[in-house]
Amino acid sequence: MEKETKAYKDFLKEIFPQFGRVRKVALNAGFSCPNLDGTVGKGGCAYCNNNSFSQVAATELPLLQQLESGIKAIKNKNDKTGILAYFQSYTNTHAPVQKLREIFTPIILHSDVAGIAIGTRPDCLPSQVVELLAELNSIKPIIVEIGVQTANDQTLKNINRNHTAECARKAALLCKNSKLLTTAHVIIGLPHESADDFANTAKLVKECGFSAVKIHPLHIVKGTRFEEEYKEGKIELISLADYCKAAAEFIRIVQPDIAIERVSGESPADMLIAPAWSGDRNRIWEMILQFPP
Ligand code: SF4
Repeated sequence: MEKETKAYKDFLKEIFPQFGRVRKVALNAGFSCPNLDGTVGKGGCAYCNNNSFSQVAATELPLLQQLESGIKAIKNKNDKTGILAYFQSYTNTHAPVQKLREIFTPIILHSDVAGIAIGTRPDCLPSQVVELLAELNSIKPIIVEIGVQTANDQTLKNINRNHTAECARKAALLCKNSKLLTTAHVIIGLPHESADDFANTAKLVKECGFSAVKIHPLHIVKGTRFEEEYKEGKIELISLADYCKAAAEFIRIVQPDIAIERVSGESPADMLIAPAWSGDRNRIWEMILQFPP
């Protein structure tokens, strides 16, 4: 495969041409998750431990302080780096619209912030929330990051997502029709899924007009239901070669319009159980590029 796919940095350059580069600052606005607090489910997704994918999941610092310290760590004084404030932890539209307005407005108006990215579930994007995001999008660009994970409803049930693929489709199309940029989060290698399932997920992402995608291999982290099942021998992980083959096919299906933000799944070493290669971005890219287009 030629690396003719759109790289995420090029996607960001299109959106933010005034900046030399754009970096994300992860934020925790103190949201919960409807799949943890009982709104739609309890126990959360079978693979989820927020501490494994968000460096700020445990912070108690006020939001503006998190932003300022993130900016300080990235930017030099005369640096032309734009900041993408990234609401990362838990479900960042799981609150009444007025509360969301109060949280997002001061961040989007911050002089160093180029735009904001908001990670959320598809069932937390009702029309009133999307209308608010569309309104804020007229101030600075907003990217809505939607957890799709898979197009297979039976898998969604097995992993306790508590939403359907159709729900993801509707949310993505509503955002797209409201001129919002969208990033899909997907997992390759969920239990009982085949190459056909991975390809169907790619087709769903393409059909929904996502702007970008984060592709992750299933990786097992501590403190999750999957940790227990993996240790009991109930989960067989996808091999590195099969993952790269499936990711190459995924990219072939969604290219060239959808930017590829990620193909690896980085977790802190003390949280990751398996597979050891899941965070090896360069090695995974090298292998993906070996597949024919
Ligand atoms: S992965 Fe997202 S939706 Fe699932 S439990 Fe974790 S925070 Fe909630």
